[in-house]
Formats: sequence, structure tokens, C-alpha cells
Amino acid sequence: MIYLDHAATTKTDEKVLSAMMPYLTDVFGNASAQYEAGRRAAGAVSAARDEIASLLGVGSEEIYFTSGGTEADNWALRGIYSATRGHIVLSAIEHPALLSCAEDLVKEGADVTLVSPDADGRVSADAVRKAMRDDTAFVGVMAANNETGVVQPVSEIAAMCGERGVFFFSDCVQAVGVLPVNRGTADGFSFSAHKIYGPKGVGVLRIKKGVRINRFVAGGRQERNQRGGTTNVAGIVGCAKALEIAEKNREKNNAEIAALRDAFVEGLLAKIPGTHLNGDRKGRLPSNANIRFDGVSGEQILMLLDARGVAVSTGSACAAGAVEPSHVLMAMGLSETEAKSSVRFSFGRENTREDVEKVLSYLTEIVSSLRAGR
Ligand code: PLP
Repeated sequence: MIYLDHAATTKTDEKVLSAMMPYLTDVFGNASAQYEAGRRAAGAVSAARDEIASLLGVGSEEIYFTSGGTEADNWALRGIYSATRGHIVLSAIEHPALLSCAEDLVKEGADVTLVSPDADGRVSADAVRKAMRDDTAFVGVMAANNETGVVQPVSEIAAMCGERGVFFFSDCVQAVGVLPVNRGTADGFSFSAHKIYGPKGVGVLRIKKGVRINRFVAGGRQERNQRGGTTNVAGIVGCAKALEIAEKNREKNNAEIAALRDAFVEGLLAKIPGTHLNGDRKGRLPSNANIRFDGVSGEQILMLLDARGVAVSTGSACAAGAVEPSHVLMAMGLSETEAKSSVRFSFGRENTREDVEKVLSYLTEIVSSLRAGR
């Protein structure tokens, strides 16, 4: 398989798996238990928390472990809203982890304003400022978009929210391990281990010390009494290891992955007429190429690539049996047809130049036969 869907998930790194194994086998104790096996598990969780905090330049007491990015996003929004009942500002290109949660909150009486991006997929600090009100309690703008890879001006938005004393949250699921994410990024941020060659089902929510946020899962006293549930020790250990590896090799990986992505985009735009890169060309994640193919359905390209062993994705979601166009591309001003003609290719550590060449040749063949109605 040629895997070009790293924005969806990644293969667990062997080193991450080795770090996790003892906590799935010999040291299987419940981290809340008082005896030695429990204390050892709790010690591993504490070390992982310290390591993640130190790699991200935040306090260990600011780190909460969750079941992934979705839960961390839900917790941040719901937790702040239920503590403040204030107005919510979100970018229109957030992941459903925030947008769907906001829809639920609207049904519960919340007031939510969505901020559109520009045609390049960027949400300006100015547009966010205009959406803010005196009673705004939560501003959420992701660090980088999962569909277009477009990097958002979060430092500027964070500074503006800081001046007004408004809580700023940034979904960093696509950014951690790629962009420098740290205490300056936001008062609250989330990330997920499976996007950085770690295990699925574990994520992190950082909440700045002193911010009042309500607990998310009622139950035991885990996560300082804020999130009940038996601690996912192996997952947490794997999450820390994945972050350590990603941070250590960040610059090198970014350069190598960007070179492959650039070769792909240049080759594609040159070889296949009527193709366009969606989103800003420069200010995007090194891994992402979101391409629009005039007159061709993205779903069909996906299926024909799949038949050749290539994994890619479209931003469309299947809702009630019908394909819904990407809300991100639509918010950028693309028509429904244009949005449905788009495919996301996201590169990763294990891709090669040969992969790029193969996929370029498959695409040339697929697009010309689809355009010819074959
Ligand atoms: N936020 C963004 C930007 C994402 O890309 C994803 C995953 O696709 C999530 C949140 C959800 O993360 P998880 O899969 O860990 O729940």
C-alpha cells in the first residue's frame, strides 16, 4: 500500500510500541491501586505527564489525559462553557470535534459565532476580533487545518485574546510534532497520539493553570478528579514516546516530507491540466496537498486509487447515505462541485520519491479516463 493519509492516522512507531509493551503485560496494574504494580503504573503515567509538559513548555499540572483529540476538544468547549455560560467564537473550519459539540451547546442555549476563513483557508485575527463581544468566554481557532493543512495565525489571536482576558483554545491535533506548539500557543490546546505515530485512543488537553473549567467525565478520582475512568497507562506512555520522537526529529522530518509533497504538487500541476492546490501554497503543513481536479469527482479518484493500493481521503463526510461536501472548502468559497472534486494527499515519514512517481502516473491515467467518460 502507498499510504498518503497521514492526516487521518499514522502507523504506530516500533519504538513507541516497545515503550508501551511492559504496561500491557508485566506492569498491568491499575494506576489508582495502592500496591506495587499500581504504583509502578502510576509512576509511568507521572513520568509521561512530566515529559509531555516539558516538551511542550507547560506545567505538568496543566496536562490532562483523554481518549483522544475529540474528547479533549469537547472537554475544553463544554468545560469552559458550563463554567462561564459565555459567548463562543469558533472558526468555521474547525474539526467536527468542536463544531458538532458547539451545535449541541446551541441546543442547550449557547450563543455561538462562526468566523469564516479567507479564500486561502486562513482565519484572520481581525475577523476573530470582529466576532468577539463583551461576553465572549471562549475563542477556538485550530493551529493547522486537517483538510487543507493551512496554518492559522494563532500567536496573533492568542495575544489578542490575552489582552482581553478571553480564554483562547487551539486544536493542535494536526500541529503537534510539526509546528512549535508551546505555552505561547494558547491557554488551552489539544493533541492526539495517533496522528504522530503513537497509539489510537489517547490524547492530551492542556488547560492553563488558574483557568476554571468543569470536569468532563464523572467517576473515579483520576486526572485530579476531573476525568474519571481507569487510566490508559500503556497509551499514555506511548503518547509521551511518540511526542519525544516527533519533537527530536521535527526539522528533519518536516524538510524531507515537504520535499516529497512539493515534488508531488509540482508534478501534478504540470502533468494534469485543470488541477489546483486548495489553500495557501506556502503557509501550510509540510505534509499536506489538497488538490482539486476540474470536472472529476474526488470520491471516484479515491476509489480508483484504492483499487491500485493507494490510500487518500476526501474531506467529504457521508451523512444519511449522501456525500456532503467538505465544510472547510465550502467555507473558503468553493462551490459544492469544486469541493466534491477535491482530494487530500497527506505525506508522512515512510513515503518515498518512488511513491510520488507512482501516484503521479496513476493519477494521470485515472483523471484522463474519468474525463473521457471511461
Ligand atoms: N481535531 C483535528 C484537527 C483532527 O484532525 C482530528 C482527527 O482527525 C481530531 C481533532 C480528532 O482526534 P481523535 O481522532 O484523536 O479523536
